[in-house]
Amino acid sequence: MSLFEVNESEKFDGISLIVPVYNEALSIAPFCDRVMKVLAGVCNFEIVFVNDGSRDDTERTIESIMQGDMPFPVTLVSLSRNFGKEAALASGMQHARGNAVIPMDVDLQDPPELIPEMIEKWNAGAKIVNARRIDRSEDGFFKRTSAKIFYYIYNTMTEYPIPQNVGDYRLLDRVVIESILTIGERSRFNKGIFNWVGYETSEVTFSRPHRDIGSSKWSCWKLIKLALDGIFTSSTLPLRVWTYIGLTMGCLSVIYGLVILFTTLIFGRDVPGYASTVLLILTFGALNMFALGVMGEYIGRIYEEVRQRPLYIIRSISRTR
Ligand code: UDP
Ligand code: MG
Repeated sequence: MSLFEVNESEKFDGISLIVPVYNEALSIAPFCDRVMKVLAGVCNFEIVFVNDGSRDDTERTIESIMQGDMPFPVTLVSLSRNFGKEAALASGMQHARGNAVIPMDVDLQDPPELIPEMIEKWNAGAKIVNARRIDRSEDGFFKRTSAKIFYYIYNTMTEYPIPQNVGDYRLLDRVVIESILTIGERSRFNKGIFNWVGYETSEVTFSRPHRDIGSSKWSCWKLIKLALDGIFTSSTLPLRVWTYIGLTMGCLSVIYGLVILFTTLIFGRDVPGYASTVLLILTFGALNMFALGVMGEYIGRIYEEVRQRPLYIIRSISRTR
């Protein structure tokens, strides 16, 4: 098979698996083997690897697999640096040619065995088939609890709640992908976007297995950033809520003022307490800072949007056929 430059007008009659990879050299071959075993004879498929600025042998490993005799087409999109999984997925969607697309992790924590069931539901008319985790015990207490808190906050705030425990692993019909590709936002939160576009949705369930090879590429900081992106890109409630907080605080201040006025008139001069004064200053100081911080989050995102920088930069693209 020879590698050649991609012609975007080509279409592929089958399913595109989009696989973002970041320092995953050891996971590539097991992933290809397992996918091949499970999907052989089930459907036509291609794999679109997005190398998200890996610093290990990931790119060379994929290239050597592409030079071998794979029974399915492989595309390798290499980004110029690590742009993060959300951006990597977006570039994968741009280069997938299939009738349906499935974003998958390369570490086999998204078991390919679910794909035939997803395809069944897709053939029955669903445009999106979510894979919902019914067991997250492998995730550890911290990740599980923080995910629960995040879903609660997110779903209370936004008009378009996202289903709990559904990751990026899902089947998306070509019409859904075309709709997603019209969204040009820079702060990406794919789980919110997948949901926002609408369409008939169905689901399959699974237990998330352990990661056998390598380790999670999500640091605590990256997860917090993703959660904040999710909330701030999907709702303006944090911005608007300050009107109500300010109004309530204003009313309370008037009531407190009246209480001081009457106690002074009735009982004589009130000696103001040092502790309560300091407490009030600190509380209002903190509230002001917090409100400013929330505005900063939105202004920062507005700045990102108006700068109009691309979401990712592609260093090279190659395809086997
Ligand atoms: N990933 C990526 N860029 C990043 C972080 C992760 O492309 O900056 C890829 C990673 O290689 C894997 C998938 O995203 O294929 C999921 O990552 P991981 O398994 O670390 O996430 P977890 O399962 O811990 O949520
Ligand atoms: Mg994983």
